[in-house]
Amino acid sequence: MEKIKMTTPLVEMDGDEMTRILWKMIKDELILPFVDLKSEYYDLGLTKRDETEDRITIESAEATQKYGVAVKCATITPNAQRMDEYKLHQMWKSPNGTIRSILDGTVFRTPILLSSIKPAVKNWEKPITIARHAYGDVYKSVELRAEEPGVAKLVFDGASGAHQEVVIQNFKGAGVIQGMHNTDKSIRSFAKSCFQFAVDTKQDLWFSTKDTISKTYDARFRQIFDEVYAEYKERFEALGLTYFYTLIDDAVARVIRSKGGFIWACKNYDGDVMSDMVSTAFGSLAMMTSVLVSPDGKYEFEAAHGTVTRHYYKYLAGEETSTNPMATIFAWSGALRKRGELDGLKDLVNYADQLEAACFDTLNEGIVTKDLVSLMEGVTPVSVSSAAFIAAIRERLAKRLGASMAGLTSRMENSYSR
Ligand code: NAP
Ligand code: MG
Repeated sequence: MEKIKMTTPLVEMDGDEMTRILWKMIKDELILPFVDLKSEYYDLGLTKRDETEDRITIESAEATQKYGVAVKCATITPNAQRMDEYKLHQMWKSPNGTIRSILDGTVFRTPILLSSIKPAVKNWEKPITIARHAYGDVYKSVELRAEEPGVAKLVFDGASGAHQEVVIQNFKGAGVIQGMHNTDKSIRSFAKSCFQFAVDTKQDLWFSTKDTISKTYDARFRQIFDEVYAEYKERFEALGLTYFYTLIDDAVARVIRSKGGFIWACKNYDGDVMSDMVSTAFGSLAMMTSVLVSPDGKYEFEAAHGTVTRHYYKYLAGEETSTNPMATIFAWSGALRKRGELDGLKDLVNYADQLEAACFDTLNEGIVTKDLVSLMEGVTPVSVSSAAFIAAIRERLAKRLGASMAGLTSRMENSYSR
């Protein structure tokens, strides 16, 4: 079979530990035999980040701005213990944080659904994607402990000299105070990424805040979303999509009653909490994909989980591991599909579809990694190693591609002969 061609390079960001091992397996078994892969490779493994004083991370994000699509392996975010383990020169920042701040993007997390894994919420039929605003609010707040009675004030000194002041509380005794902020610019980027992603994935967009209580702060989020929606209204209507705003508590109730199949945009804290609720209710972190979308339409695909350190140490000790590669495979298929769509490469889009279908074939036949065994219903799962799981996918992918390419060829032959 002739390999599938690409025209624009994909930005490839390699990573750490068990996911780095899976990364190579996925490339060798599922990508390179079928696709004439064009990628610009960046090694974001911790050793390389340390060697380059983390320049490699910045360069990989800049390449994503240039080419538009990246696929990223999970990476270690260093802490004190990692400083020792890797003899680091500095406690480098989280690569995801660095990339996110350069691309100014929003992270969308979507579960991979399987008919044999029933969500804890029985009426959920389609995935729910959480879009979490990743800037400000309580994550960039300042706090103060008042030890005695006194007045707490919120003060703003404008660059023009304008002065605003409100009393927060007249404390009769000790208490606590918190000051938080957000910026119009960041909220607008968030809103744009959400509307863009809704159009891209043809899903309704929900947004929720508490603007009945927070009449200035949360209300500003709602206003900006309304303004950005005005730019997208025609595209939404043409695609039959809905933008739906409701209060966060009402949204929670409706999400639980829903069938799924929409994007739920959340403020930073709400997204932090709700993404764990939604992902756990859908089944497993190992089945959660993640994509960072910038307001100008650049994409970075990855798995939502980390480097699976515990499995890596077993692997290093010579044990066979049964780490689930699904989310990482779907990061690749998502990135290659997007590349194919942007470059008008039907074969590449078809390859991405067939790769995902081959994963489902494998799982539906009961060939699974260990983490899924206890979650499956209606099939008798057999747990296999990561390598055996990937080999089973490869076999099914080759069959599917053979058939679909033959189908494409025969359809072409038919149209020529007519
Ligand atoms: P983790 O790598 O997501 O793993 C936590 C646990 O979840 C694992 O020990 C495993 O449970 C289970 N798990 C996660 N992914 C799995 C998979 N694909 N297949 C099977 N089981 C899976 O989180 P962590 O251990 O807290 O973090 C490890 C490293 O990853 C840290 O250095 C952290 O900085 C980094 N991290 C990176 C990213 C990223 O790059 N996006 C995100 C999060 C964390 P069992 O051990 O019970 O089998
Ligand atoms: Mg959290």
